[in-house]
Amino acid sequence: MMILDFGIGMQGFSGSPEFFGLGFFAFLVFGLALSGEPRGRRPVPWDRVEKEIFDHFLALVRTDTTSPPGNETRAAEYLKGVLEREGIPARLLALDPKRANLVARIRGNGSKRPILVMGHTDVVGAQREKWSVDPFAAVRKDGYIWGRGTVDDKDNVTAGLMLLLLLKRQGVKLDRDVIFLAEAGEEGYAPEGLRYVIANHWEEIDAEYALAEGGGGILKDGKVFYLSVATSEKVRLEVQLIARGTAGHGSMPRPDSAVIRVANAVSRVAAWAQPMRLDETTRTYFQRLAGISPPEEAARYRALLDSRGRAEVEQYFVQNEIRHNSMIRTSLSPNVLKAGFRANVIPSEAEAIIDIRALPDENLTEFIEGLRKVIADPQVEIRPTFGRPAAPASSLNTEMFAALESAQKRLYPESLTIPILLTGATDLSPLRARGVQAYGIGPLVESEEIGGAHADDERIPERSLPEFVKFLWEAVVEVAAAR
Ligand SMILES: [Zn+2]
Repeated sequence: MMILDFGIGMQGFSGSPEFFGLGFFAFLVFGLALSGEPRGRRPVPWDRVEKEIFDHFLALVRTDTTSPPGNETRAAEYLKGVLEREGIPARLLALDPKRANLVARIRGNGSKRPILVMGHTDVVGAQREKWSVDPFAAVRKDGYIWGRGTVDDKDNVTAGLMLLLLLKRQGVKLDRDVIFLAEAGEEGYAPEGLRYVIANHWEEIDAEYALAEGGGGILKDGKVFYLSVATSEKVRLEVQLIARGTAGHGSMPRPDSAVIRVANAVSRVAAWAQPMRLDETTRTYFQRLAGISPPEEAARYRALLDSRGRAEVEQYFVQNEIRHNSMIRTSLSPNVLKAGFRANVIPSEAEAIIDIRALPDENLTEFIEGLRKVIADPQVEIRPTFGRPAAPASSLNTEMFAALESAQKRLYPESLTIPILLTGATDLSPLRARGVQAYGIGPLVESEEIGGAHADDERIPERSLPEFVKFLWEAVVEVAAAR
């Protein structure tokens, strides 16, 4: 997963030392608020369920599924065992037997199309020497659980597992099937993961709605500022620029130097201005963010939505709010330069790699043509590599988005839901490209910079895990339970 998308205004919200105390108080209030299940449904015994949530989460974090090589089958087998002990059949779907995906389903009456809840079992590597704890020991200390995968993405895997167990135990009558997919190989969009499942087992996961990683919330002094739901994301493509020239002696500079060619191409690419564009997601994002931000920031977000003063805000974003800058335009970042091997030899080849993150509506063929014109050098070869497919944003006017919003209102009435466009890429986009309305959700964290996804000392506030399971439960029951 990529990092969550919060405004710059949220940065520097750090946890207070009495965080756990406040969290516990909030938890009591929250527990009481939840005890009245609607429509005579049996209340979930959350106090008992909580221990179980932690047990499964700790077991999953302790299962080292670092990718590469992944070995996600170990996590999939664990989940299969837990589900089947409670009479929920589960299947492993594998291109590589060591990298299995797991799928399971609770059936509804079929009057509505299914909902898919997804989490990925693979994790990125951890540099043990930079961690203050063993990254695969799932250490509980200072109000957190520490370990690789605690926020990316074994939290979502655990929540999906618990959702199925609870639906079964509580005997909730459903209008639609609820499907759980614990996918392998999300990091780097490996061929063994969702790509394989979509191509070979689409009928197992075909759904109207999907929920997976990508959103979440920031805790400030134990309170929730807002909950984000990812409804859209940028499209990634890599472009290699390769210049060729004649090799020779460094004492006699050549007019066809490959290094100079590629350097010129990179500087033109870097100076190529991309127009700002807002869509339903980003317009709503800035509107709602303005409503809860300090006056100066709020004024900036409002100015962005208005043509007057917009240019100034755009400039401000370029300098000071780089994530917001990337949310409103296609971006190009030259991240790799390769050329030469000795100071006195003119190399015959030079290469640059540009990391392009396009807005979801960008026409990529036209964009590459535009890039060619900007570089304006036929001797520079342009070689694009496409990643996940481009996909339209998911709608804010669906039962699912409304259910996520109303779950937020019940659990965190002081907060609000904000739709976001992720600047990074997730496995929601291949689902969106197949017509699924897919939303990114996530637990509450205290900071996205410290201990976040892919970071050293990755950790989740203990409070957040059971609350996240409840949030998912509330939203899914609302959208799937029979009326
Ligand atoms: Zn992830």
